[in-house]
Amino acid sequence: MPEHHVKEKKHHLKQIDCGPECGFMIRSHDEKEIIEATRKHVKQFHGKDMSEQDIRKDIEDVKG
Ligand SMILES: [Zn+2]
Repeated sequence: MPEHHVKEKKHHLKQIDCGPECGFMIRSHDEKEIIEATRKHVKQFHGKDMSEQDIRKDIEDVKG
């Protein structure tokens, strides 16, 4: 009987926690999705423009 081997994809769940004052938080395996959503949020809610690099710095891995 062949061993059933599930290949583990190294897609960590990532998140951005914007701040307690707005409560915006997004979690996704897709970094691009996080960046897009955060960008929109920051622009709409905080009236600021954030570069992709800035946002990337704030992305953290969700542990466990
Ligand atoms: Zn915010």
